[in-house]
Amino acid sequence: MYKIMTAGPTQVRENVRMARSLETTNPDLDLEFYDFYKQTCDDLKGLLHSSGSAYILGGEGILGLEAACASLTEPGDRVLVIDNGIFGKGFADFVTLYGGQPVLYTCDYKRPVDCGKLREFLEEDSDFKYATLVHCDTPSGVLNDVKALGCLLDEFHILSVVDSVAGMFGEYLNVDESRIDILCGGSQKALSAPPGLTLLWVSDRAIEAMENRSTPIASFYANILTFKNYYKDKWFPYTMPISDIQGLAAAVDNVKADQEIFRRHEKIAAATRQAVTEAGLSLYLKSGYSNTVTVVQVPEGVTDEAILSIMRDKYQVMISGCFDILAGKVIRIGHMGENANIPDMAQTLDAMDKTLQELGVPLKCRMKDRFLELLS
Ligand SMILES: *Cc1c(COP(=O)(O)O)cnc(C)c1O
Repeated sequence: MYKIMTAGPTQVRENVRMARSLETTNPDLDLEFYDFYKQTCDDLKGLLHSSGSAYILGGEGILGLEAACASLTEPGDRVLVIDNGIFGKGFADFVTLYGGQPVLYTCDYKRPVDCGKLREFLEEDSDFKYATLVHCDTPSGVLNDVKALGCLLDEFHILSVVDSVAGMFGEYLNVDESRIDILCGGSQKALSAPPGLTLLWVSDRAIEAMENRSTPIASFYANILTFKNYYKDKWFPYTMPISDIQGLAAAVDNVKADQEIFRRHEKIAAATRQAVTEAGLSLYLKSGYSNTVTVVQVPEGVTDEAILSIMRDKYQVMISGCFDILAGKVIRIGHMGENANIPDMAQTLDAMDKTLQELGVPLKCRMKDRFLELLS
């Protein structure tokens, strides 16, 4: 078994795995399941400070991104796609798929979006039905200020769709204060349940926008409105994956019980970044580091594959490479959720120290020792 220190999925705690093996009922017919589902959604609303609705959808995190675009986009709609990362840009594909007209607002991939500059752009052109943005764009690890951006979009009467799949529960997030209309999350990042579920937080005005469409939503599975009356009607659009949701509920309880969750992510991430840079390696970003993932440039003279395979095969620690424009350029350590703990990070940095040494990459200090010193 490998130590899974990737940028998601993360390690999964035993109580979550056990909850997934509990006896199951028929989730379509058993009214107790509707109460259990609703309670879990209410807990999710409470954790992220949302007064709107929350839903759990059967399908990987990507489903939420598509469902948001499918449910809001009408043919011809102009949609602002805020792009300072690979997931940010990717929203344009979903907008196009549902007949919308994406307008890319592209900025530096090595820094968070500059709100002042976006304001200047919006003063010239703000005729957008909604905008998409990413909280933590995992391939680079850049963290955008969703509260400032959400409030700015709100000021210009633009609805907001926010992907915080890799930010939520590792970084503080307040849905109401950030004026977010559709927030997308997944089970397998900082929440630390296995992959398979999408989480959505939906504002009343987003529901209104969906109900006031002049064309029908061009999807069934990705239609958020089909969930709206599930509790009143005791009806789901498809059979809910009950074991996955039982596991998720246990993961939600773990997060609720963890008073130190943000502080822990912050400390581990800061020590990781400092240890890595003091050793002489370079971070990909110039600013705006998310506390859920650290993204390190592949040192000169070696390949990502060489580092990843030695760490995996010789030291049993799995970290992530990257894809798209960052393929081969960076390696990523996921310290989100269950991964955000000192012993696992020390083991990871130890494996990285030894691997880089074997590959002939000179390091100015041992990252593991430095990491432990910084946290002692
Ligand atoms: C992981 C992730 C998703 C979901 O992608 P999956 O392929 O379903 O895991 C979406 N957005 C971001 C920013 C992510 O990190």
